[in-house]
Amino acid sequence: MKFIETRGNDGKCEAKVTFSEAILSPSASYGGLYVPEYLPTLDNDFLKSHVNSSYKVLALDILKRFEIDIEDSVIEEALKLYDEFDNANEPVPVVKVKDDLFVCELYHGPTRAFKDMALQPFGSILSHLAKKRDEKYLIMAATSGDTGPAALETFKNKENVQVVCLYPDGGTSDVQRLQMVTEDAKNLKVLGINGAFDDAQNALKELLASEHFNKALEAKGIKLSAANSVNFGRIIFQTIYHVHGYLELVRQNEITFDDSIYLIVPSGNFGNALGGYYAKKMGLKIEKIMIASNANNVLSDLINSGSYDLRGRAVVNTTSPAMDILKSSNIERVLFDMFGADRTRELMDSLNTENVYELTPSELNTLQETFGAVYSSDEETSKVVAEYFENGYLMDPHTATCVKAYNELNDSAKKTVIYSTAEWTKFSPTILESIGGTKGAHDLDALKEISQKANIEIPQMINDLFSKDILHKSVIEIETLEDNILNFL
Ligand SMILES: *Cc1c(COP(=O)(O)O)cnc(C)c1O
Repeated sequence: MKFIETRGNDGKCEAKVTFSEAILSPSASYGGLYVPEYLPTLDNDFLKSHVNSSYKVLALDILKRFEIDIEDSVIEEALKLYDEFDNANEPVPVVKVKDDLFVCELYHGPTRAFKDMALQPFGSILSHLAKKRDEKYLIMAATSGDTGPAALETFKNKENVQVVCLYPDGGTSDVQRLQMVTEDAKNLKVLGINGAFDDAQNALKELLASEHFNKALEAKGIKLSAANSVNFGRIIFQTIYHVHGYLELVRQNEITFDDSIYLIVPSGNFGNALGGYYAKKMGLKIEKIMIASNANNVLSDLINSGSYDLRGRAVVNTTSPAMDILKSSNIERVLFDMFGADRTRELMDSLNTENVYELTPSELNTLQETFGAVYSSDEETSKVVAEYFENGYLMDPHTATCVKAYNELNDSAKKTVIYSTAEWTKFSPTILESIGGTKGAHDLDALKEISQKANIEIPQMINDLFSKDILHKSVIEIETLEDNILNFL
């Protein structure tokens, strides 16, 4: 299968590229993204044939149907990384929390957030390609906390790949920061930035566009790629767990192959929800995909009103920081799929120049046939964390944004799956406050207090973080970023 561009072709890029090309150089004409030319079909026969498959076997078969230009042995090697999750037989548990409500836990990988689901296998495939082509790549990531650790973990000690990771100093949780600054590998550089996440991200974008920087990389024989979810190499792995969740409900005798289900996805850059959209297009029986947002509710506004409006909006800091995003990249792939390349380019141009775009009433109708959206305030998510904790289930604040959408659906005739994107250990001070513990505790104290209250163990890899050596000590001014990176390379 080939990959095509969401904003049409400018005559300079290739109009159709292979999967390898799309993941090594993920930016397409006019600033667009790559999408698959068509989607494979996963009919009932396919699903029935996998009712007893392991996660890995299901994943391999879905990936094969995309007919990508990666050998099976390389894909199998990448999928083996799921064996390192908490339980190799069940890397993605689906837990019943109410009669008609299930939580699909995506956080059982090495960095305790859902980014591992895709970045683990993606890193393996990308570094294989770099080696095979005898090319050197620099991966740059700006992170608000979860992408950074997951990208470092997947690329550490990989040949032909170097990673530079920028985080806002003071803007992440202790656990997230320690996950980055204690990573020990020669090919990794972690830099704290004096500034907020947006400053780090803007600095990175400027650098990527800088002629001076690109020339310097060229002189060193290094190419640039990206590990954020604009890279289709991540999205492809994010379709699989939606299919797995459905099959898991069949296995648990909760539904039959005739039933459809609701998905509720806590959304920021929309990669997770896009995976659900593709699964639905491929034939999975999904009644509706509900988008859960926090106070940065541009996506819910788009889905409810047809208008994506950034005018006069600034990012609000919430207790679900991984969703504190205003420019949600992956909605573009849905717009392309529904309305075509010309219209997508028009809408994206309008967003870039006017900070706003409007769908027509009929376009909005089409969008709403598949998607619904609900947003929650911090107070609301905090209450959800407390309520579910009292009933024996501990969830993080990102996951908790989903529960309001579930309550509003109020359709017990159909089962609902919500996606849990982070383990409690990553946001322990916030959770501790919600469940009535000490306010303003540091991570280590909060972890211990929750562990006692909830009678659960702190995972070894989280505990270990607090006694590891800090290896990346630099906190820099943004102006010195380019020099810092070139020195490292
Ligand atoms: C990245 C992330 C999200 C948002 O996922 P998108 O695919 O960007 O919509 C939600 N919750 C957590 C904990 C995350 O790390």
